[in-house]
Amino acid sequence: MSRRVPGVGVVGGAEDFLDAGGGVEDDALSPTVGDEQETEGVSYSGAYAAMGVDNSLQLDSFCKNFKVVVNKLSEDEMEFDMIGIDAALANAFRRILIAEVPTMAIEKVFFLDNTSVINDEVLAHRLGLIPLAVDPRLFDDLSENDVPNERNTLVFKLEVSCEKGGPRRTVKSDQLKWLPNGSELPMELRNPSGNQKGYTSFSCSQASLPELSKNPPRVKHGDIIISKLGPGQAIELEAHAVKGIGKTHAKWSPVSTAWYRMLPEVVLLKEVRNEDAEGLAAKCPTKVFDIEDMGKGEKRAVVVNPRACTLCRECIRGGGEDLVELRRVKDHFIFTIESAGALPPEVLFTEAVKILEGKCERVISELS
Ligand code: SF4
Repeated sequence: MSRRVPGVGVVGGAEDFLDAGGGVEDDALSPTVGDEQETEGVSYSGAYAAMGVDNSLQLDSFCKNFKVVVNKLSEDEMEFDMIGIDAALANAFRRILIAEVPTMAIEKVFFLDNTSVINDEVLAHRLGLIPLAVDPRLFDDLSENDVPNERNTLVFKLEVSCEKGGPRRTVKSDQLKWLPNGSELPMELRNPSGNQKGYTSFSCSQASLPELSKNPPRVKHGDIIISKLGPGQAIELEAHAVKGIGKTHAKWSPVSTAWYRMLPEVVLLKEVRNEDAEGLAAKCPTKVFDIEDMGKGEKRAVVVNPRACTLCRECIRGGGEDLVELRRVKDHFIFTIESAGALPPEVLFTEAVKILEGKCERVISELS
């Protein structure tokens, strides 16, 4: 096992995930769903006039009608309804959540020793993807000419080994230990007579900062497997986390996913009775329809739970198009945010709103 001069692995490289996440906007404005109907975006304000739907954007009616109703809220996940909003704005929030709300993630890894089966680059990449439970709002961006300090860098250390002759060892994310005083590695000196410098320049311990002392930085999930070590193998490294956004690399994305669907609307075009009603109710896997007893042995199908509709189209297969029409309410979005762990989902949404607000202010100041 050889001990090496610290080497640096930079975890970087933009990923083309935004396109992969797209597609929602393509069909977001289509009000009906049918086998033969292609979904398409509509921007003309009178497009749905024949259906009695006004899709023009009026500030007054937006302020009056816009509503947010939270349906589910847990530590990591939130589902809420956004009602009275344009598809473009709902999609803007989705894209900002994925790509523009910042988080902290490991960006540089300094290796002192790595005799595991995973090479330095892959190990550095794995470390970069481990979600960190630390509030990114407490930190500044680290630009190219900045010195890493207590306000823009978090340092973690990993030092594990597997004894010769002992059993194999699993290295997990909770073995990453926060170094509140910054890097412990001396920088290689070009001029040996110069002052010894470290890779960070902290003016105080991060443990003395009230926000961090109350809530020390840590990994969000301690059971993520980083590597497995065989007898005689070891890993010793220092990982430096900085602030960034998902647009630069997916590791900075604060969400596992942020997505929406439009509220389904299931309409019975005519009364469906008796065996036909039972057949229709039986076709639906999510129990959108129920059977209503009309007396005198007569029954009819009724729509009881349109929200549960997944638009699977089972009910309109085999001639059902004459009985049922599937629509989507064009300004009602069921939005789901799954946080990766840096911030609670409700805070992520308010951060996304602030970012959109900042963009609007920039446009206004550019125009004025
Ligand atoms: S589309 Fe599927 S889920 Fe929706 S009502 Fe029809 S059968 Fe039920």
